[in-house]
Amino acid sequence: MWLPIDPNSDFSIHNLPFGIFSTPNAPKRVGVALGDWVIDMPVLTDLGAFNGIDFDKNVFRRDFLNDFMATGKAVRVSVRQVLQQIFDDPCSPFKNHTSAFLVKQSDATLSMPVKVGDYTDFYSSEQHAFNVGAMFRGAENALMPNWKHLPVGYHGRASSIVVSGTPFHRPKGQLCPDETQPPFFAPTKRLDIELEMATVIGTGNDLGDRIDVNQAENHVFGFLLFNDWSARDIQRWEYVPLGPFLAKNFFSSVSPWVVTTEALASFRTDAPAQSPEVLPYLQETHRQNFDVTLEVYLEKSETDKTTPTPQRSAPFLVSRSNFKHLYWTVAQQIAHHTVNGCNLNVGDLLASGTISGPTPDSYGSFLELTWGGKNPLTLPDGTHYTFVQDYDTIIIRGFAEKEGKRVGFGEVRTTVLPAK
Ligand code: MN
Repeated sequence: MWLPIDPNSDFSIHNLPFGIFSTPNAPKRVGVALGDWVIDMPVLTDLGAFNGIDFDKNVFRRDFLNDFMATGKAVRVSVRQVLQQIFDDPCSPFKNHTSAFLVKQSDATLSMPVKVGDYTDFYSSEQHAFNVGAMFRGAENALMPNWKHLPVGYHGRASSIVVSGTPFHRPKGQLCPDETQPPFFAPTKRLDIELEMATVIGTGNDLGDRIDVNQAENHVFGFLLFNDWSARDIQRWEYVPLGPFLAKNFFSSVSPWVVTTEALASFRTDAPAQSPEVLPYLQETHRQNFDVTLEVYLEKSETDKTTPTPQRSAPFLVSRSNFKHLYWTVAQQIAHHTVNGCNLNVGDLLASGTISGPTPDSYGSFLELTWGGKNPLTLPDGTHYTFVQDYDTIIIRGFAEKEGKRVGFGEVRTTVLPAK
């Protein structure tokens, strides 16, 4: 590896995540993150780096990754191998062209990496489902009778999924905290986050076909950090009987770099055992999750809220969880989603649902961290905190680390503005 890279960088040579970037004098195109750099894929293509791989090279000159993702796993694996060979070979002929194909990340603007067709949100963390159930129905009946038999999910909305760095205004909606009184219209008072991972579908299935659970991962391009912003008070009033609607579709934010399944291959770990036994179409020969540490940080705005760029507190760690805690694996989510013949398409996102770990400091939402707002968190300045306030910034980070190898997701960072 002849390009100097900080050993703590999320974007090691093992990672090579794909994204979409632009620079002041060139439009959106495909890039690959490496250390503090972005590899300009169209430029590297023009230098001949990928001549040995048979695919339409124009897929790198697109506003989204979808066309590249649709080329499939074999092309992606080959492209990654070429990149690793270039940077591993001290005599690489491309070494003399770095000023052409390496762009400083600080000079690049990152965009939404994927044109999301359909978005589905699952509910696949047992601790999260238990916590929410226990809060609303008591610990005895926390899990619904179906929960251990199928990966529960709902169809969400793709139009409001945006990339890290995009702020949003606190949503308004119908609230009815006291059902003996009529509802009223107001900004949500219970604005919450959901710490999730999103699976990016690379290749789909035809309508009427299903994806076998043991083949499902071949349809995955990679993963994103996903913050599924939620308005708990709107949700509480609207969700009966058809489930989440306006409490969930106002804003979801994703990290800009898609980390591939290949990059995460050495971080596989056994998934939790399932009991009772699941139906045959959900049975995997080898149940595995990915060991990816997930962290949620809160940055409070400390100054006059009218200041355009208020000073911010140091990021405060509010939760540390892990992608490995999913009871329902990504493969099971895909198998279940398609078992009725529903077609997945390139660019679909399947979010995991909030990923809560076993301990209270690993819960993935403020709903759980504060147990419905009843047990506020204490911030470093001594103030109490329940739900997200105006001008707060929430940062989710994710990384896998093992034997000196680090593969990270960067972050998804979102600031909440007042309702308008
Ligand atoms: Mn969610």
